[in-house]
Amino acid sequence: MRKRLAWILLSCVLCLAATAQQPALTVGTATAVTGQAVTGFIEVPAGSDVGTNIPVVVLRGPKPGPTLALVAGAHGTEYASIIALEKLIQELNTADISGTVIIVPLVNIAPFEQKVPHVNPVDGKSMNRFYPGNPNGTQTERASWAITKQVVEKSDYLIDLHGGDLDESLRPYSYWAPTGNAQQDAVSRDMVLAFGLDTIILSTDRPRDLNAARYLETNASLRQKPSLTAEAGHAGTVEPEDVTALINGCLNVMRYLKMLPGNAPPVQNPVWIERIAGVTSETSGVFYPTVKRGWYVQQGMKIGYLTDLFGKTVWEARAPSSGVVLYVCAVPSMKKGETVANIGVVASKAP
Ligand SMILES: [Zn+2]
Repeated sequence: MRKRLAWILLSCVLCLAATAQQPALTVGTATAVTGQAVTGFIEVPAGSDVGTNIPVVVLRGPKPGPTLALVAGAHGTEYASIIALEKLIQELNTADISGTVIIVPLVNIAPFEQKVPHVNPVDGKSMNRFYPGNPNGTQTERASWAITKQVVEKSDYLIDLHGGDLDESLRPYSYWAPTGNAQQDAVSRDMVLAFGLDTIILSTDRPRDLNAARYLETNASLRQKPSLTAEAGHAGTVEPEDVTALINGCLNVMRYLKMLPGNAPPVQNPVWIERIAGVTSETSGVFYPTVKRGWYVQQGMKIGYLTDLFGKTVWEARAPSSGVVLYVCAVPSMKKGETVANIGVVASKAP
């Protein structure tokens, strides 16, 4: 009897210890205790313009572990990335998770509803340029601030998903943006390799000032949280291969972080991009691409042309550098100064 009592007491202590390692986590209106998946909203109150409610799911696994944030839909018509997280919410089994996953499948609701690329139609701003945000700013800034406080500060790692917008024919790629902190950078590099996309942009020109982080990934990285950005999907489509690549990427990073059982072998022989050579249009008119996403082009090669509204060719777009077409404009609408294509200049060796 005594032995049994002692065992029960020991079990209780162990049970309390386990609970202590995983207390309830609240993100917005979602509070999850160990073993729960809870949905809710991150409320962005009205300010100088209307408020919004950002959907969030907190999956709190039964075993302790880190907290990983998965975010999509900063640009509301990058559909493949949004659908990837919608599916992942349904596919993830909380019982399998060590630690916690915070999933925000659609940060920016207005452009999703209204089918507006690049910006939030409420204030005309991109929702991946104003981090860490501002509680007294316009909706984009207030939403960014809410994501900083509710998601970034409560996470240990972060993945921001994007893709080609409505007017962008994009081949999948990810970004690795080292911060100068060798230990953190080694982890984020491993995360990018585990994510598995075979084209990786080395991004060395990110802001170093936390108050002007601009990008969600930078906002997290500058808070010592290893992070990455990954893009797949193009021009309004939801292709299974793009969605699957993003879902598998997130799952593999979870395996790398020991949040899921199993291994995540790093992508073999990725193409590292050392610089992006952007091509902007010198005039307005009708755009005709002559290359496709993922093609390799040589410096000076014609990648498309513009006609006036009567069909007369008025400008030829040429590759400023040799490299891979990361994306090319997917629609005929073209205004002076807008992006025709981004060419990724291939690094001579892996960083
Ligand atoms: Zn985007």
